[in-house]
Amino acid sequence: MTNATDYVNQIKTAIKTRDPYQTEFQEAAFEVLDTLVPVLEKHPEYVAENLIGRLVEPERAIQFRVPWQDDAGNWQVNRGFRVQFNSAIGPYKGGLRLHPSVNLSVVKFLGFEQILKNSLTGLPIGGGKGGSDFDPKGKSDGEVMRFCQSFMTELQKYIGPDLDVPAGDIGVGAREIGYLYGQYKRLNGSQNGVLTGKGLTYGGSQARTQATGFGVLYYTEALLKAQGDSLQGKKIKISGAGNVATYAIEKATELGATVITVSDSNGYIYDPKGIDFKVVQQIKEVERGRIKTYADRVESAEYHEGSVWAFDTPYDIALPCATQNEIDAASAQLIKRDGAKYVIEGANMPSQTEAIDFYHANGILFGPAKAANAGGVAVSALEMSQNSERLAWSFAEVDDKLKAIMVNIFAASQKAAETYSLGKNYQAGANIAGFERVADAMHFQGLV
Ligand code: GLU
Repeated sequence: MTNATDYVNQIKTAIKTRDPYQTEFQEAAFEVLDTLVPVLEKHPEYVAENLIGRLVEPERAIQFRVPWQDDAGNWQVNRGFRVQFNSAIGPYKGGLRLHPSVNLSVVKFLGFEQILKNSLTGLPIGGGKGGSDFDPKGKSDGEVMRFCQSFMTELQKYIGPDLDVPAGDIGVGAREIGYLYGQYKRLNGSQNGVLTGKGLTYGGSQARTQATGFGVLYYTEALLKAQGDSLQGKKIKISGAGNVATYAIEKATELGATVITVSDSNGYIYDPKGIDFKVVQQIKEVERGRIKTYADRVESAEYHEGSVWAFDTPYDIALPCATQNEIDAASAQLIKRDGAKYVIEGANMPSQTEAIDFYHANGILFGPAKAANAGGVAVSALEMSQNSERLAWSFAEVDDKLKAIMVNIFAASQKAAETYSLGKNYQAGANIAGFERVADAMHFQGLV
């Protein structure tokens, strides 16, 4: 029989040969596959059943045309995607991203990550992801609404409360979910379990808006606690200024840390007194403006163009909350230069593979996205539960459940790392713990 390492190498070669241009998907898949070798050594049946070959192939990938009319009357066309990656443990679940960088490779990388992330939550949700290369930046409300209605007119054929349940991601927040749900309801009737991240007046869950950011901090707290450390008095650098960053700042501050930076694609704010999440919330959620304007409102803050990682100042914890691949090997070196001891990912795959290798080689403890940012999708699954039982839980009830889930995710990752003698490699631990549940389900479901 083929040994586990050869088997994984064969799969990698097959991925490269089949989809040579899907670089983001390759990066996400290879990172996981490399850490699964010891599990495959323990489970030769997974190799015999070609379980990994099946895992890296989406069950279904849908691409569709999204025509819409802009305010000037021009007829525009964008490309829409939904990748239904794996339903072994439950209905496909994952967000929709609206950003010009979205293509099949990006959606596949996100969908693949989602399989293991969703498994780590311990809840019955499979992995999926979707989106479009539509750029919401600079668009009017009317344009965004017409786009969302057109997108959903096609997407509604493929989703359902027990089949595939989309939610938000970059570029998709409360406004977009509202428009998408309105159109779904018009075509199919009221079935509010079909989307999560809904408004509180029409089936949304308390704490869903805060869930990813809060969850990152609950995970961070658990990871630090396992080292005999705590968030009290820590200095944190955050990149990004979207939904994840905003609520990560709120929770970090509440837990006694000081967040000294926040950023967008143009530059970053440095505020040694601690970033005020309410100002970020006002700029980003209400005004849909640029983070630069933070410096006009808060006296202790400065704005600089360029990368937040290049900014030279001592701090303890890096929380990249912007987007994929923002930390290359050179930025990882700058994180070490500034004395940070922990990198915990709020965004999906913000660290390139070389950066992760650098953290491990330099004793920087690393919390990977699929564990650290699972709080968003976890509360999405709780929203689905509330929709099914037609109930609405209190903020405290959802927040308590979220915290317990994040603590469990860290514990499961730590235990898997221990079982396979991987020390404090919580990245491999998360991959293994997430994989074990999906692999077991796939094994018992036969050749599907
Ligand atoms: N987009 C989020 C993620 O990356 C949440 C997805 C969801 O709530 O379904 O996990």
